[in-house]
Amino acid sequence: MTLRLHNSLTGTKDVFEPLEDSHVRMYTCGPTVWNFAHIGNLRAFLFYDLLRRHLQVAGYRVTHVMNITDIDDRILDQAMHAGTTIAEYTKPYAEAFFEDMKMLRVRPAEHYPRATEHIQEMIRMISTLLERGNAYVADGDVYFRIASFPHYGELSHLDREGLRAGARVAADKYDKESVSDFALWKKAQPGDEKIGAAWDAPFGKGRPGWHIECSAMSKRYLGDTLDIHAGGVDLMFPHHENEIAQSEAANQRQLSRFWLHSEHLADATGEKMSKSAGGFTTLRDLIAAGHDPLAIRLFLIANAHYRSRLRLSEESLHAAGEQVRRLQDFARRLKLPVAPKDGGRLAERVAEVRHAYREALDDDLNLPQGLGHVFELLREANAALDSGEVGEAAARELLLLMADVDAHADVSAAQDTTLAAEVEQLIAQREAARKARDFAAADRIRDELRDRGIALEDSKEGVRWRRVAKV
Ligand code: AMP
Ligand code: ZN
Repeated sequence: MTLRLHNSLTGTKDVFEPLEDSHVRMYTCGPTVWNFAHIGNLRAFLFYDLLRRHLQVAGYRVTHVMNITDIDDRILDQAMHAGTTIAEYTKPYAEAFFEDMKMLRVRPAEHYPRATEHIQEMIRMISTLLERGNAYVADGDVYFRIASFPHYGELSHLDREGLRAGARVAADKYDKESVSDFALWKKAQPGDEKIGAAWDAPFGKGRPGWHIECSAMSKRYLGDTLDIHAGGVDLMFPHHENEIAQSEAANQRQLSRFWLHSEHLADATGEKMSKSAGGFTTLRDLIAAGHDPLAIRLFLIANAHYRSRLRLSEESLHAAGEQVRRLQDFARRLKLPVAPKDGGRLAERVAEVRHAYREALDDDLNLPQGLGHVFELLREANAALDSGEVGEAAARELLLLMADVDAHADVSAAQDTTLAAEVEQLIAQREAARKARDFAAADRIRDELRDRGIALEDSKEGVRWRRVAKV
């Protein structure tokens, strides 16, 4: 089996093999914790999760690093405004990020380095760039000299003629059309120290620019050359271009062999979802509107290939919810006793589908295509189960197929059954308490469930539960 990944550096799907036998070193750009992550950000993070999971399926050990950007222009503005430190200001948003990841069943990275905890590494790299003449000090700020790096623009296939070298841009997020010397270090402004956003450096008190953190932290945890660097497509230029310039100028080695970029999530109007633009949807919003986190997960990874744009809509979320239900129902049916012997050639068909599923994922992580094969088969398999024609051999293959799917999609019953069993038990205890007229105990159980993000509803058929946003 050969794994091919679309590499933005070459513009083609290339055969992937890591530098070090069977070990993949991967760096992905993480959240800027100035606010809650929106569903677009989560699409990028779930793409990293899909990539990581498939590398593991392909037999690799993965060391995955994802940064937490806890200092940037917006964080400084907000902390100043709120009269607090940047550490205090970002704390709840960093916590919310980890909660989101958990709810979406994202497998944790090995390291989540925070920018503010790696300032010394950044200062060291900036010093090297100054010594080598790739950077210069101007009015207390330090800038990277783009003219000193002839490869600038190669990742995003920029036309170097269009570069305006020497124009300086100090903002973290700037107009993507402007190609200019970018800030590595910004001198401290009045008030920065008070909010915990100023550090001493040989080139003056200040704080790092946004781009240098990824170069310094990837080097610290993964060395000079990564196997894979990934991010959303909006980061290709200038962020990744700047990372390459800084790291390669300082280390004299290639920063990453593969660069993977995931496409945007658009809102219902077709515009790229963005926090600065205002109208954005968070995971909490969707859960509060009654969507199951697993449906959201499946929608974000499987409704479109990661390099295609995806549009958020109620219909698609409902369709994903329906797919989750079909996978879970099927997994449940497979637990029932099987027929004495197989009818037809179902076992062979399942083996073929397993092969096709794996091939789709090996072809640049084409999960939508892989799942297409699986859903087609589920129709046949359900019919065979209805007519009692699924014997041991077919059932075994089907279980293996469901495990293959769960290795990426992770939405079928396993974890949910444990949760369901626990919840059902608590509901039964609450009913018993109510019968015994111990309403305090009944309320306590209801509150406990509510804290875990589960709401109870009394209905004609008894008590039902559903997931809601945690309070
Ligand atoms: P940020 O928190 O802004 O630094 O972004 C975190 C990640 O989300 C980056 O990889 C971005 O490329 C990605 N991202 C931002 N907006 C979108 C969007 N609308 N759709 C998909 N990914 C996005
Ligand atoms: Zn980055």
